Formats: sequence, C-alpha cells, structure tokens
Amino acid sequence: MADTQTTDAVRSFEETVTAYDPVLGLEVHVELGTATKMFCGCPTEFGAEPNTQVCPVCLGLPGALPVVNAVGVESAIRIGLALNCEIATWCRFARKNYFYPDMPKNFQTSQYDEPIAFNGWLDVQLEDGSTYRVPIERAHMEEDTGKSTHVGGSTGRIHGADYSLVDYNRAGIPLIEIVTKPMVGLGERAPEIAKAYVATLRDLLRALGVSDVKMEQGSLRCDANVSLRAKVGDDPGAPEQLEVPFGTRTETKNVNSLRSVERAVRYEMTRHAAVLSDGGSIIQETRHWHEDTGITTSGRVKSDAEDYRYFPEPDLVPIAPDPAWVEQLRQTLPEPPAQRRRRLQETWGFSDLEMRDVVNAGAVELIEATVAAGATPAGARKWWGGDLARQANAAGVELADMGVTPAAIAELDKLVQAGRLNDALARQVLEGVLAGEGMPSAVADARGLVLVQDDAALGAAVDEVLAANPDVVEKIRAGKVQAVGALIGQVMKAMKGKADAARIRELVLEKVGQD
Ligand code: ADP
Ligand code: MG
Ligand code: ZN
Repeated sequence: MADTQTTDAVRSFEETVTAYDPVLGLEVHVELGTATKMFCGCPTEFGAEPNTQVCPVCLGLPGALPVVNAVGVESAIRIGLALNCEIATWCRFARKNYFYPDMPKNFQTSQYDEPIAFNGWLDVQLEDGSTYRVPIERAHMEEDTGKSTHVGGSTGRIHGADYSLVDYNRAGIPLIEIVTKPMVGLGERAPEIAKAYVATLRDLLRALGVSDVKMEQGSLRCDANVSLRAKVGDDPGAPEQLEVPFGTRTETKNVNSLRSVERAVRYEMTRHAAVLSDGGSIIQETRHWHEDTGITTSGRVKSDAEDYRYFPEPDLVPIAPDPAWVEQLRQTLPEPPAQRRRRLQETWGFSDLEMRDVVNAGAVELIEATVAAGATPAGARKWWGGDLARQANAAGVELADMGVTPAAIAELDKLVQAGRLNDALARQVLEGVLAGEGMPSAVADARGLVLVQDDAALGAAVDEVLAANPDVVEKIRAGKVQAVGALIGQVMKAMKGKADAARIRELVLEKVGQD
C-alpha cells in the first residue's frame, strides 16, 4: 500500500529554476452542461439519489445501443473553434478498454487518433501584462465514469476500506478533454502560466455557456504534467535550450482549484529537482495532490504505451460535421473573454490595476449589470471590487452569491451621486441590504441614514465649531487650508455623521472668507 504521509525531499524553487528548465503539459476535463448524457437520454443533474439517472446504455447492459448527443458534438466543436483549433471533417469515437468498477461497460467511449478538434492555441495574460500563447494539441469528446465511494478506513481511499459503493449517475456524462502540447521556454513562470491557462480556459468555457466550470464540484478538472531538463543558458527560450531532450514527466491528477494548479506545478518542479540533483531518476507515474499539506504522493506507474487496445467504436457512426455548419458556429462564437475585458476596461475607464482587481474578484459581469442598471462604472467598481469582494472572500462564497443584486448596488450608487448618502452612511446601508432589510433607499429610510440636506442646520453646526476654534480659523485665514480637516471632523461629529463632507468644507471656507 502506498504511504500517503511520506514527504519527498524538495529543492527551493530558486535553486530548481537555476539548474533546470521545466516542461509543462496540462490536460483539462470539462463536463458539458447538456441536459442529457453523451450516448443516452438519461438526465445529468448533479446531486440526485445514487443510481437514479441510469439506463441500459450507460450501464453497459448487453444489446444496448448508444446514440450521440448532438448538443455534445456542437459544444465540442464550439470549444475547438474558440481554442483556434482545426475541426475534423470526419472523425470517430474509439473504445478505450480497461476494467474499473465505476465504468460498467469495461471500456470508455472516447476519441483516440481522430479527435474532433486539434492543433490550436489560447493566449493567456500574465501578471506582468505579457501574453503567453499556450499550444493546444487537441480537444476530444469522451464520457465520464461513475463515482466510487470507499466506506470505512481513514483515508477514503480503497486501501483499508470495508466496502465500496458505486454511483453510475455520472457515467456517460459528456466530457471534453483539452490537452496542451508540451509547453517549453517557461522557466520560472511555469507555475504562473499553468494557473493563468486554467483560469483563462475556465472563463472561455463559461463565456461559451457549455459548462458550469466549477472546479470544486469537479465539472472542470486539471491534470498537470511536469518534467525538468538540464538548463543550458539563462534564456529558457534559446534555440540550444529548446533542443535539449525532455525529462521524464509525472502527471499530478485532479488538482481542484486554480491556486492548487500553481502550487502543484511548483511542488512537482522542486521535487523533481531534488531527485535529479541527487543523481536519481524520475519514475513516470501519476501523483495525487494533497491540498492540505501542499504535497503530491505517488499514484500509479503509467507508461506512454499503456495498452488500452483502442479500436474504433463499432456501434456509433463516424462524425462528419458539415463545413457550412462549422462556419456558422464560428460566426456565432461569443467575444473572447480577454477581448471583452479590454473593451469593457476602455468603456469604464479603469486602470490596468483596477481592471485586474475586478477580474480577480470575479466582478466583471456584476459590474456590467450594475452599470446597465444606472450606476457609474467607478461606483460599481468601488462596491463590488471593495467591501463586497472582501466580505465574499472572507466568507468563502462567490461574489454573485452574496445576496446583493446589481440593481441594489446601482441604487446605492445613485443615492451617493445624488448627495443623499456619504461613503460612511452608504456602507451602513449596504450592511442593511446584506442583512436582508431590503433595497438601499428603504434601508436608508428605515435606519434614518440620510444626509442632512438642510443648509441652515449644517450652517449652524459650522458656526458653532468655528466659534469654538478661533485659533484654527486664524490658521486658515493665514493660508493653512489643510487645517480645515480638523474642523470638518468636528462638524461631522456634531451632525452624527449624516453630513456631506464636501459641503461642510465649502461652508467652512465660505464663512472664514477663504472660498
Ligand atoms: P496521457 O494518456 O498520459 O494522459 P495525454 O497525451 O493525454 O497523455 O497527455 C499528456 C500531456 O503531457 C500532454 O499535455 C503533453 O503535452 C504533456 N507532456 C508530454 N510529454 C511531457 C514531458 N516530457 N514533460 C511535460 N509534459 C509532457
Ligand atoms: Mg490524457
Ligand atoms: Zn443512460
């Protein structure tokens, strides 16, 4: 039994990239959001009672015949087109034969040497503003397996379990596997590029509307292949470096968050470096990523020439998409996310840094909807990208699931723009909205959080503060206008926070004779 607690030796990341050049290959599985499975009419809904969404086809019963899901094929082609791939004019499914209890047919219907899409690329934007073009080997169609649960034992793995249960609801759900070519010339940027690629791919798939791309629920899964080779100079892109043969790779399975993709690649690089610099050699194997400890452990040895006895699927007709239809799908692709972001950034007038924060907070769509509901772009960014993003992050929920609508934020922004709320009051109003007290204007009314618009009341408060601070007034008259700040604070306090600081400032300067 594999010891899952063993920690391998690692080199520091700096030593690793000083001595070695990494090669990276990513395999991403995406579960399509079709209503039915890939080869039968069973529903695909997540979370149903085990084995309630099955039929003779997806259970592999004798005599059952599969039929291809047309929406699945269309989604595969759209994904291929969005990844700048060539689309096969003719291709077939293949049987990948192996036994596993969660795969009732004893083969997986997949594609082998005839993928539906191949030879593409995807540009990813890096933190420093540069772009890296990820080469795509292929995107092919296949089906998901069922799900095993190992009961008893402490690890949840099959070793040490008392018994195992299998749920076939997931068996036959359409998957697209997207495989990159080996990426070279990455150097120390390899972990960042891995993460940026998966993030960019996720956004693209979401924009295509083909999947809900939830890494934590497994509808987007990433396997990371990493190897190291000797470094010959300082430039990872130099021709003499590119000629060095690849080292042996490991394949780290099911890395289930963007952060983990980066960490797992980084960890494997440093582990390989430790083995290699000790004169050892890397075993070609799968590795399991452990989110909690941040390490990988040995999975199963996997050679390149695994004998799956692939052969063309005899029960399904070949797929020959009509070129006119493919062209039509190309014409109706959504605007690529990166291009869309550049367009929105320009329209909204955000700086690069502001836009990056907004993207990282997952707030682009929310800001778009909030602006459409009448907010200023700056106001929408301020709330979604500021207070709300911080709270969502702290609570570990998606920004969109905070229980605040774009319409509510637009209303809040309008109240601020109209001078009915200042920032501090608006923050309290937002608290009320988050607490389910209703829309901002209702919360402001109910909580009495409206700015005093009455200039007479404000003027009286200013007079009082001026009278109590003759020394400060002198300073202002002498030209030390910064001194106004102290007075604004006192007036604000007297007004219990319900005043517009800019208006107080105007009144003070006016009354002191410095306006
Ligand atoms: P497998 O059947 O092992 O999953 P795939 O062809 O589906 O093989 O995926 C292999 C992945 O590993 C691809 O992304 C490929 O680019 C990458 N790869 C191949 N050789 C290396 C290597 N030496 N180092 C790093 N990645 C590699
Ligand atoms: Mg693979
Ligand atoms: Zn079925």
